[in-house]
Amino acid sequence: MSTQDAQSTPSKQGAPSEPSKQSTAITNIGLLVTNEAERPELENAALVIENGKVAWLGDSSKAPVADERIDAEGRCVIPGFVDSHSHLVFAGDRSDEFEARMTGQKYEAGGIRRTVRLTREASDAELEANTAKLVAEMRAQGTTTVEIKSGYGLTVADEERALRIAGKFTAETTYLGAHVVPTEFADDPAGYVDLVTGEMLEACAPHAKWIDVFCDRGAFDEDQARAILNAGKAKGLGLRMHGAQLGPSGAVRLAVELGAASVDHCTFLTDADVDALAASDTVATQLPGVEFSTRQPYPDARRLIEAGARVAIACDCNPGSSFTSSMPFCMAVAVRDMRMSPAEALWSATAGGAAALRRTDIGGLAVGQRADLVILDAPSYVHLAYRPGVPLIHRVLAAD
Ligand SMILES: [Zn+2]
Repeated sequence: MSTQDAQSTPSKQGAPSEPSKQSTAITNIGLLVTNEAERPELENAALVIENGKVAWLGDSSKAPVADERIDAEGRCVIPGFVDSHSHLVFAGDRSDEFEARMTGQKYEAGGIRRTVRLTREASDAELEANTAKLVAEMRAQGTTTVEIKSGYGLTVADEERALRIAGKFTAETTYLGAHVVPTEFADDPAGYVDLVTGEMLEACAPHAKWIDVFCDRGAFDEDQARAILNAGKAKGLGLRMHGAQLGPSGAVRLAVELGAASVDHCTFLTDADVDALAASDTVATQLPGVEFSTRQPYPDARRLIEAGARVAIACDCNPGSSFTSSMPFCMAVAVRDMRMSPAEALWSATAGGAAALRRTDIGGLAVGQRADLVILDAPSYVHLAYRPGVPLIHRVLAAD
């Protein structure tokens, strides 16, 4: 267990791995968020960590003696953020596109091809260094688990390379050969789907936990998405989908039908989509940075929550449509513009993200869960939305 500020000592790969003490007690926690059903929040609390897991939590005055003690001095402690959607393995910069959009142009999925060209040209070392920088940036902002997708290679070798690099930083690796149809297959999209479901899948599956497809206008249609996800499922990969970002479609219901862990974006939902999500185990992941950065209308997260769907928040960190790595920023936008309460936004950024990755060991601080946590420089998590843009991460402790 880390005993130093993780944000000031990120390792090269963004994972501060320091020798673990036998036990650590964090005492004088003004407000502790556990995400447990029975007691989701405790005041004046303490938490004891043993072997990287939460071993005890309760009233601070009753905290058992531990080998090491951290005085939280009344601060709020929350579970580490689980960012279940990112595209970190890439090269280049598209700030010019952002600037153009902010002067009135619309986002088109085709900009991805520009990053594909730059990523193919980059060396392994460049890609790994860029990924490490972004992972460290995330960790400094409280993210303790991140999912990383391929999708800027779009050749067998380049997709496999992206997943090998992603795997150095996380176990949550996602094969996204079906990000867009690359330029060289512009006249033969069916041929590209054959590659994605054939040779490319063979090469990538050993390095991936998940398969994803961008099912939207300008990317892959529903029949293609179905074929791609079924091929991944046959290889033992879990299913995820980018759907309903650019307009309404059958993508969300397809994701539910196939049993995807998560369908991400969910910006344009029909009533049937909302009902399908609410009746399923598929998490609806909202990506507020995308609407912020593309000036699209925000989805109404409140509608999903009230229908009974499980909602996650993720950054979708990528150089085109959302180049933020900050979960606190995304939470603030979700509260301000997507009608989530601060408590809902925090749940979605922690337990919601864990559900989107089908993980029960992270996303909360119940006894037995991983001791991945953030000590906020604030008395309450409400400050994450109340004080947008302000660095409120006092300290990050992670079991890795
Ligand atoms: Zn994405």
